[in-house]
Amino acid sequence: MADPLRHPSEPPPRVSLDIDLDAPGRRHGYLTVPWSRDDSAWGSVLVPLTVVVGTAGPGPTLLFTGGNHGDEYEGPIALMKLAASLDPAQVAGRVIVVPAMNLPAVLAGSRVSPVDGVNMNRAFPGDRRGGVSAMICAFVTEELVGRADAVVDIHAGGKTLDFVPSAVVHDLPDAEQNKRTRAALKAFGAPLGLVLTELDSAGMLDTTVEEAGKVFVSTELGGKGLATAETVAVADRGVANMLRHFGLVEGAPDTPEPSRLMHTPDAACFIQSRHAGLFEPLVDLGALVREGQVIARVHPVEESGGRPAEYRAARDGLFYCRHARGLIRRGDCLAVLAVDLDDA
Ligand code: CA
Repeated sequence: MADPLRHPSEPPPRVSLDIDLDAPGRRHGYLTVPWSRDDSAWGSVLVPLTVVVGTAGPGPTLLFTGGNHGDEYEGPIALMKLAASLDPAQVAGRVIVVPAMNLPAVLAGSRVSPVDGVNMNRAFPGDRRGGVSAMICAFVTEELVGRADAVVDIHAGGKTLDFVPSAVVHDLPDAEQNKRTRAALKAFGAPLGLVLTELDSAGMLDTTVEEAGKVFVSTELGGKGLATAETVAVADRGVANMLRHFGLVEGAPDTPEPSRLMHTPDAACFIQSRHAGLFEPLVDLGALVREGQVIARVHPVEESGGRPAEYRAARDGLFYCRHARGLIRRGDCLAVLAVDLDDA
């Protein structure tokens, strides 16, 4: 197999894939990742994977991933449906679908893997000699990202955050790559298209793909540890739009309402809790807030009659992301504000 991102000094992979990624047709298979443990001495994790190599003509390779974090459900739902329905006769190019990339976390309904405690989106580009999560990351980097022209990694807020449904990209230093990425962001067709400044980008799949010079689109399609009909519909349409945008399937992207383009230009957009207690939001997601406006209170839960801490918006913006639990702790992300982006 081609191994474009593998350094010659790297050890051989310990994982194996039971399907051919290159021959025409649609195949469903498993990535087998060794996981020797107390209750299964020669056991493994079987990560499901589908490849559709189209027969409608040549074209690019598009990689879709879901379940990077195991408590985010729109990606696995939309991608299971895609894997079951995509017809190679209608595809020009190749589509690789990994609906539950961090399968142990998806099965546990947890953000991080219960196998090794690893947050998969802090473990890229992976390590062939590492644990289960690191081996999955290394395979995705070498064999899947290595083959892909563009990657769409579908996220949501998980159990602890909630977002205005959005497609998300980063500002990239390469002007041409940035232009291609912005075009894909708009084509996804989410209600909001966000150019996000990451608080901590090391180890992300995003960074691995972007540094390889490829187009990367992520999403934040809601949260609270569940999917809704609305957020799944955004995922379904976005997946279909990506296939059309990159020319794998005929037709133009279906974007009846253009995405509202926004960004998070400075630290004032990110509000962190300095208190622990009961979280009282004073606005809901999507609200427009003004600088100085009280947007949330944190009530001390262990005393009656105490004064709550007030959290004010440090700038005008849209209430884009919020803490999604009734209790909040010191250091938790309380809210993120987004600001309109002029991308003319
Ligand atoms: Ca996530």
